[in-house]
Amino acid sequence: MDNHISIQDHHLTIGGVDTVSLADEYGTPLYVTCEQRIRRNFRTFKEAFPDADIYYAAKANWNLAILRILASEGAGADVFSDGELYVALLAGIPPEKILFNGNSKTVYELQMAIDSGVRISIDSPDELRVLSDLSVKSGKTVDVAFRVNPDVSPDTHPKIATGLATSKFGIGYKDVLNVYKEAKELSGVNPVGIHCHIGSQITDVSPFGEAAERMMDLAEQITSLGIDLEFVDLGGGLGIPYQKDVQTPEPRDLADTILPVFDARSRDIGITPKLVLEPGRYIVGDAGILLAGVNTVKRSAKNFVGVDAGLNLLIRPAMYDAYHEVVVANRADLAYEETYDIAGPICESGDILAKDRRLPLIEPGDVIAVLDVGAYGFSMSSQYNGRCRCAEVLVSDGGVDVIREQECYGDLIAKHVVPARLLTTL
Ligand SMILES: *Cc1c(COP(=O)(O)O)cnc(C)c1O
Repeated sequence: MDNHISIQDHHLTIGGVDTVSLADEYGTPLYVTCEQRIRRNFRTFKEAFPDADIYYAAKANWNLAILRILASEGAGADVFSDGELYVALLAGIPPEKILFNGNSKTVYELQMAIDSGVRISIDSPDELRVLSDLSVKSGKTVDVAFRVNPDVSPDTHPKIATGLATSKFGIGYKDVLNVYKEAKELSGVNPVGIHCHIGSQITDVSPFGEAAERMMDLAEQITSLGIDLEFVDLGGGLGIPYQKDVQTPEPRDLADTILPVFDARSRDIGITPKLVLEPGRYIVGDAGILLAGVNTVKRSAKNFVGVDAGLNLLIRPAMYDAYHEVVVANRADLAYEETYDIAGPICESGDILAKDRRLPLIEPGDVIAVLDVGAYGFSMSSQYNGRCRCAEVLVSDGGVDVIREQECYGDLIAKHVVPARLLTTL
């Protein structure tokens, strides 16, 4: 297990804090995040790429406290909506280190990006023209990049491969040069960057090398148009080992693949752009766990452990067939006795958090810990089935802080409106 997760007196601990005590004190379900682990992951990335800017992908986990930790480490942010931009700015991430991404931005979002002074990654010729008009009207010139679809196919789940020619993201590799030419002639936009992101949970670095080559080819052609490239953003996507005993590349392996290409090609072209990377999962993924209480153990064709967290709080297993390790938190080091499916409480047969797991004997009242849920866990949660989202706590140096309160019924209906005519007596 990772060094922030260990076992003491049969109990699973995170950041030195007993998860069973956390479940007792704060109730379940409960998201628990380890501050030191986030800092360690960010620093590992930064050490591998000392000269690069690291723009944390906010969509992985945009809890305000977590963004604040990353801001204090000097992270920038990759944001994908007005809401993520709002939260990133609120967390204190400097606007000049924010890149606003998205394949279908609204006029409102573009205007917000202009007004906030962040840079924008443009995803289509239509967006370029709208942005140019808006920034001219605002009396501003906005630094922009173009999201390029480099047409490389990493070996990952199809739902998280984003750099294929048929993906909805980015401008086709063959078309993008013309878009730079158009941008050069337009007012209000200043093309200074190129951007790609080939996918997520990529566990082999070679597609990153391929993407870097293709992006530097493009950098050369863009430079020959007379455009001064200030940054090359190669996106995020580095995978993490969700299964124990699986080895995945570390940031230094990514650096060994990308940097020689980036450095040599920059030198050849005679440019000195900044390298930008946008890791999300690597930074927060293994820093978070989800604690779920066991309601029932039902032995039928299979053994189902009914827990109080399901796809409402962690959709990755249902959406991506994702594997997460599970541990019986209060019996963490006992021998395996039975094979179980860990089933959530949601009215969907697909609401299974973990399938066919050999685990110690489980009883009602036990606590199940689902590991590596810090990325795309809480940030993809919902209120489906009328379930309040659970609380989130942060453990740090043995202390515990609530960083998101549990929702209440009022939160479920906060934005519902019943027309007056329906309020008459029934
Ligand atoms: C999702 C995303 C990322 C982060 O991906 P990870 O796999 O979490 O590292 C980075 N950049 C863009 C544009 C993204 O959409």
